[in-house]
Amino acid sequence: MDFIEKKRQVFQLYDEYERLVQPCKTQAVCEKGCASCCIDVGNVGATTLEGLIILEYLQGWDHQAIEEINLSLRENRREKLNSVLVRCPFLDEEASCRIYAVRPFSCRRLYSVKKCDGRGAVVHRQSVVLGQKMEKELQELDPEGCSGHLSFIIHLLEQETFRRGYLEGNWREEDFGDTIKRYELVVHRKEG
Ligand code: SF4
Repeated sequence: MDFIEKKRQVFQLYDEYERLVQPCKTQAVCEKGCASCCIDVGNVGATTLEGLIILEYLQGWDHQAIEEINLSLRENRREKLNSVLVRCPFLDEEASCRIYAVRPFSCRRLYSVKKCDGRGAVVHRQSVVLGQKMEKELQELDPEGCSGHLSFIIHLLEQETFRRGYLEGNWREEDFGDTIKRYELVVHRKEG
C-alpha cells in the first residue's frame, strides 16, 4: 500500500464531502463544547486506513499522553463490548476532540439542525445519502481493510501480524476470525 497516496485520497474525500454538504451545514446548531455526538455515541466508525492515519498522528504525542490514551482506548473497548452507548476515548475534559485534525469520516458527517438534548441529531436527508456514498468510497479506498468501531479498529492495527499483512495486502481473514467476530468488524475484501 502506498500509504501517503492513500492518505491524500482520504483527505480529498473529506474535503469533497465538506464542500458538498456545506449548503445543509449552514443550518447546523452545533457549537464547540457541545460534543453530545461524542458522549452518548453508539459507534465511532472508522476504516483501517483511517485508523492508520490516527495512529500515525498519535506518534507525535508525548509518552504520557500516549499512555493515557491507550488506557482510555482499553477502557472504551471494555465498555463498548458491554454497552451500546459509550463516551469516545478521544474526547478531552473540555469536551474537545483530541484528534480533531484526523477524526474519522463518521465524525465529520455528523451535525444537527436542532439541539440534540439527548434525543440524537436531526440531519438533512440529502446529507445522510451523501454520507453513505462517501462511506462506500472510503471503504473502496481501503480494499484490503476492515471497518468498525474506532477503538476496535485501532486494536486490530496494533497487532503486528495483522498490520504487516494488511500493509502488504496478504493477511488472512481466518487468522483474525475471533477478533473480527468479537468486534463485529466488516471486512472490505471481496473473496472470490
Ligand atoms: S473522534 Fe473526536 S469527533 Fe469523533 S467521536 Fe471521538 S471525540 Fe468526537
